Amino acid sequence: MTETIDALAGLVAGGGVVVLSGAGLSTESGIPDYRGPSGAARRHSPMTYQTFIRDPMARRRYWARSHLGWRMIARAAPNDGHRAVARLQDAGLVDGVITQNVDGLHTVAGSVGVVELHGRLAEVVCLDCGNRTSREELDRRLRETNPGFDAAVGAVNPDGDVELADEQVAGFRTVDCTFCGTGMLKPDVVFFGETVPAQRVSRCFAMVGAARLLLVLGSSLTVMSGRRFVLRAAKLGIPVGIANQGPTRGDGYAALTVDVPLGRLLPALAARVIDAPSAVVPAAGPGGAVPAAVAPAPR
Ligand SMILES: [Zn+2]
Repeated sequence: MTETIDALAGLVAGGGVVVLSGAGLSTESGIPDYRGPSGAARRHSPMTYQTFIRDPMARRRYWARSHLGWRMIARAAPNDGHRAVARLQDAGLVDGVITQNVDGLHTVAGSVGVVELHGRLAEVVCLDCGNRTSREELDRRLRETNPGFDAAVGAVNPDGDVELADEQVAGFRTVDCTFCGTGMLKPDVVFFGETVPAQRVSRCFAMVGAARLLLVLGSSLTVMSGRRFVLRAAKLGIPVGIANQGPTRGDGYAALTVDVPLGRLLPALAARVIDAPSAVVPAAGPGGAVPAAVAPAPR
């Protein structure tokens, strides 16, 4: 792993890093990555936006399963990988963090200004009036509305991918927006079949365009919503580093790929570039130029 860290440190030490993170960064926090090497295939196909909007029974099933799965997310804490990213940002080496994760763990770990590309599970939005509330509050309302539901369902699968019989779903009652009284509620996350808000995408493109290095952490780059930033960086001649367990769909564009658990890799990387910068050999920059400064200027 030492040589790998040396190479990655050489890229990161020059600063100007924009991080693009995915599910693989949160697996060590106990949140499953259904596409990752250890993740069994997801038993349920993901809910699409269209189905959620049009099919009341599917919506009821979504909320019933999500009501049980939410507590796993709510319990999750950031891991050493999230903390190392925050440390690199604090040291002035990471300029921005874009995440595909909806768990909010980067922010809990101390990163600031995180762009949550696919939204945040901890917030709920009314599709009629746009009112936002916390998932915590919705959780309380759903518990009150469905007393005894947990006991009836029994053991929840530890990965939150809850299996529910039709009659259990039929007995679950959803709730509407308390602000307008009738609006349909949806977690404030981007579903399959839904597009990321354009303003959010532009902001990410601007971040990537200004980066010295795009560092992908724990994403297989399967969906275009994240992969397009790798394509943009490659087009602009900005180096891309990818740390992920298993191959990704961006490997062909990467200056460096690393296959090591992120909870081990990132703290070691942070230690190398922050605590021992004089030992870091800078990587050749774009066009073969070596970055002038190894240690970042304080900001
Ligand atoms: Zn409403």
